[in-house]
Amino acid sequence: MKTYQHFIDGRYVEPASQRWMDTVDPYTGQPWAQIPQGDARDVDRAVAAARRAMREGPWSRMTATERGKLMLRLADLVEKNAQRLAEIEVRDNGKLLAEMQGQLRYHPEWWRYFGGLADKIEGRVMPIDKPDVFAFTRQQPVGVVGAITAWNSPLLFIAWKCAPALAAGCAVVIKPSEFASASTLEYAELTREAGFPDGVFNVVAGLGHEVGSALVDHPDVAKITFTGSDATGARIYAQAAAKMKRVSLELGGKSPNIVFEDADLEQAAAGVVSGIFAATGQTCIAGSRLLVQDSIREQFTRRLVELGASARKGNPMHAETNIGPITTPAQYRKVLEYMEIAKAEGARCVLGGGAAGSLPGGQFVEPTIFVDVKPGMRIAREEVFGPVLSILGFETEADAVRMANDTIYGLAAGVWTGDMGRALRMSQALEAGTVWVNTYRAVSYMMPFGGMKHSGLGRESGITAIDEYLENKSTWISYARGAPANPFVMR
Ligand code: NAD
Repeated sequence: MKTYQHFIDGRYVEPASQRWMDTVDPYTGQPWAQIPQGDARDVDRAVAAARRAMREGPWSRMTATERGKLMLRLADLVEKNAQRLAEIEVRDNGKLLAEMQGQLRYHPEWWRYFGGLADKIEGRVMPIDKPDVFAFTRQQPVGVVGAITAWNSPLLFIAWKCAPALAAGCAVVIKPSEFASASTLEYAELTREAGFPDGVFNVVAGLGHEVGSALVDHPDVAKITFTGSDATGARIYAQAAAKMKRVSLELGGKSPNIVFEDADLEQAAAGVVSGIFAATGQTCIAGSRLLVQDSIREQFTRRLVELGASARKGNPMHAETNIGPITTPAQYRKVLEYMEIAKAEGARCVLGGGAAGSLPGGQFVEPTIFVDVKPGMRIAREEVFGPVLSILGFETEADAVRMANDTIYGLAAGVWTGDMGRALRMSQALEAGTVWVNTYRAVSYMMPFGGMKHSGLGRESGITAIDEYLENKSTWISYARGAPANPFVMR
């Protein structure tokens, strides 16, 4: 079994506690490696290294162009190591190898996009309304960034958070999920190979309430960027408020996928399946609430059941597998519990509805579809984070908007229609950070991504993501001569 170490100040180091935890392959249910169980002492060490890098190390003296070049070099190294990283992630969180290979082919683009942006961060000269003053703004790195990530896509979250943070000139301390830390710890080595100075990129593994909480509390961490559940997000937000830290939060969802009778129904069916069964439903953007126009509801449901039933469960390393295991035992129990809740609430199960018992590891569930779901049911309101679809009917466009927005969440929404006017009306009316029309689950380094309402704060990806890691500083320079102005009035 491989034993991992933290990555602090440019090298792998043992945890102060001298304790390690098993990390489990969700397909076999067996431990396959050990990760350090960090604590506040490791966080102190990593934050001190990051602060040194920003204040006195070579990172602080590098030009933005040089920073950008290191990021481009890292992009190439990720590309070169894509297969190895993909396999580690599959082993650690059970995601499909096919999905991870695609993700890692694309992943370097975040480094290239933000690497290119590093030397295009500009301040402004103000046409200031005062005589004899030169006034300008400059954009400066916000400070040391603490990045806390979830288990479902740890590698992607590194790129989403660290590419803009490093382009801005910050240094980062990452706390990956205790359920899937291996890929992040492996990735750290590539930052060293790329030539990033010591302390710019640090990884401290461990438990949320120990390492995560210590990072949020640390006085020298200026900004927390978090991806995870809304419950943890709310706790971190409150904790960070006491220390007046900048916070961005990418949280959960109960995203509506809305199918109108005028849609290309075959495309829509494939999109709905991808929205809920891809990644075994363990994605924040899962389209877990399907709203279908009543006129096509039965026919469309039949097609979804057919497609869902044809999904092959199995070893996530195999190319023909469509549905892998649920990543953690607790999540597995939660998904099964929601299936029972739905049945008890009166929803009717037309596909799946339980565990897929005969596979190894014991963490497989059947892709599941519920009909006769009412908007007030828990299965229609709460995030399951598994391959469980709730189908609700609607009559008019106005009903669809009302039902879609009747949720505390606002991460994403899908609309399937052949009517462009309707597409534009829906995109305006839906309370979601992302609206996909006639597609679903598309992301890009150049497109902002994030949530409204309980789905979070701030946006990742796209040019504006860099603002999350910058302070906008104003400088006033007076070149007035002669007698000083009256000191007792505002200038
Ligand atoms: P989680 O909230 O349990 O954990 C996320 C991270 O927070 C982990 O690293 C964990 O160790 C850490 N953490 C836990 N308690 C903490 C505390 N008190 N202080 C600081 N850190 C703490 O979430 P999860 O179960 O790992 O991930 C699943 C959730 O993530 C789902 O709700 C899903 O919707 C959400 N998610 C959101 C996005 C998005 O971009 N919006 C993407 C993926 C997942």
